[in-house]
Amino acid sequence: MKQTESITTSVFDLFKVGPGPSSSHTIGPMKAALDFLHRIRQLPPEIQSIATSIDVILYGSLAATGKGHGSDRAIAAGLLGKQPEECEPSWFSSLMSDNDRYQIAIGANAVTFGPDNVRFEKGKFHFPHPNTLHLRLMNGIMPLMEEEYYSIGGGFIRRKGESSLEQNPKMLRYPFSTMSDVKEYLLQEEITLAEFILRNEESLTGWSRESICEKLDSILKFMHDAVQRGLAADGELPGTVKLNRKAASLFKKGEEMARSQDAFLIFLNAYCEAASEENAAGNIVVTAPTSGASGVIPGLTYLMKTHFHYDQKKLREGLLAAAAIGFLVKHNASISGAEMGCMGEIGTASAMGAALLSFCAGCDINTIEAAAEIAIEHHLGMTCDPIGGYVQIPCIERNAMGAVKAYNAYLLASSGNQAHQKISLDSVIKVMKATGDDMSKKYKETSEAGLALSVTEC
Ligand code: SF4
Repeated sequence: MKQTESITTSVFDLFKVGPGPSSSHTIGPMKAALDFLHRIRQLPPEIQSIATSIDVILYGSLAATGKGHGSDRAIAAGLLGKQPEECEPSWFSSLMSDNDRYQIAIGANAVTFGPDNVRFEKGKFHFPHPNTLHLRLMNGIMPLMEEEYYSIGGGFIRRKGESSLEQNPKMLRYPFSTMSDVKEYLLQEEITLAEFILRNEESLTGWSRESICEKLDSILKFMHDAVQRGLAADGELPGTVKLNRKAASLFKKGEEMARSQDAFLIFLNAYCEAASEENAAGNIVVTAPTSGASGVIPGLTYLMKTHFHYDQKKLREGLLAAAAIGFLVKHNASISGAEMGCMGEIGTASAMGAALLSFCAGCDINTIEAAAEIAIEHHLGMTCDPIGGYVQIPCIERNAMGAVKAYNAYLLASSGNQAHQKISLDSVIKVMKATGDDMSKKYKETSEAGLALSVTEC
C-alpha cells in the first residue's frame, strides 16, 4: 500500500461552507488574508507600531476575474478576521465600496485597508500557480513584511515555501493516493467506500464517528438550505451580465409536468440551478468540490431525498463516497478551473455525483469507479470561460448539466458489465491532468476567450 504522499484532505475541507461565487477566487483569498492577519499580529511591537497600511496585488486568473468573483471583498473580510462560514451575505456584499476604509488592529496600532490598496495586475502568469496573490504590510511605500499565497482550487491555499496550509500531519488509518489503493483496502478489510473514508476521517481529525456524522448532516443542511433559498428567489443576479434567476420557474414547470416522464429531470435542473444561483448571488453555499460547482451535489442529494426518499444515513454515506472521488482528482490532477478549466470543477463534481448515486443505489466498488470514470471522461477538455468574469454563464446551467451527466454515468455504469470497462478512474484522472496542462491559459478562468467573448457589453 501507498505509504508516502498520501491524501490527507479532510472531508470537511472538501465540503466547506462559505460565501459564493468562487472558492478559488473568494474563499481562498479570504483564507490567505486571514492567515496574513494572524502572521502580522505575531510581529514584534516595534514593527507593528510603524505599519501604516496593507497592500494586496492579485495576479493571473485572480487579476483577470477577481472583481467579478469578489476577490477584493473576500480579502477585506479575511483582514477583518472573518472565517468563510461566518460571513453574513449582505455584510459581505457591502464590502469594498469606493470610499470604504477599514482599520485593521495589529498590536497597539491600526493599519488602513480599502479599495485603493488592491491592485489587479493583469497579464502576469509567471508564478507557480495561476491564482497568486501578494499581501504586504507597509510603512508608507516601504514593505515591512510580505507573503505570497496560491489559491489552489476549492478554497484550499498554499503559502510560498510551504507544501499546503491544509495538510494535516496526523496519521491516516489507510494511506492512499489512487483508486487502485482504495480498492485493495476495501477487498482486504471487507468494508464499503463510505466506511473507508469515515475510518480515515476519524484517524485524520481525531473526532468520533458520531461527531463526523453530525457534521455531515450539517453540510447536507447547508446544501439543501441553498437549494430552498434559490427556489424561493427571483429577479436579476448581481453584476453586469443582468442574468435572471430561473430555478423557481423551472420548479414550477416541473410541478406542471408532474405526470410527464421528463418531470424528474426538470426538478433536478431546478435544484442544481437554485443552489448555483445562490452561489452566483454571493450567498452561503458548500464547496463540492468548488463554489463554481456547488450546485451538482446539493441538487442531486435534494432530489434523492425529496423524490427518491433516501434516508439521512444513506445520503451521509453517499457524501463520503463522493468525497473519495474529489480527493483523488484534487490529489492527482486539480479541482481548480484556473489549472484544469471547467473539467476540474464541474467534471469533478459530476464524477462525485455519479459515485454518490451509484453508492446509494447499492452498487459495488467497480461500478462506483466506472460511474465516476465515465463522468470525468465526458467532461475532458471542457474549458472555463465565464462571461464578464461572473460565475453565471455558463456556470449555472453547467451545474445542471453536470448533475444530469452524473445520473447518466451511473445508469451507464450500473447497467453495463464492469469486466468490459477499459479505462480506470486513475487513468482518466491522469488524462485530465495532461489535458489541463495542455490547455491554453485563455480557457482557464481568465474570461479572455470562448463564451466570455460572445457577449460584448459585459
Ligand atoms: S466555467 Fe466552470 S470552472 Fe469556470 S467559473 Fe464557471 S463553473 Fe467554474
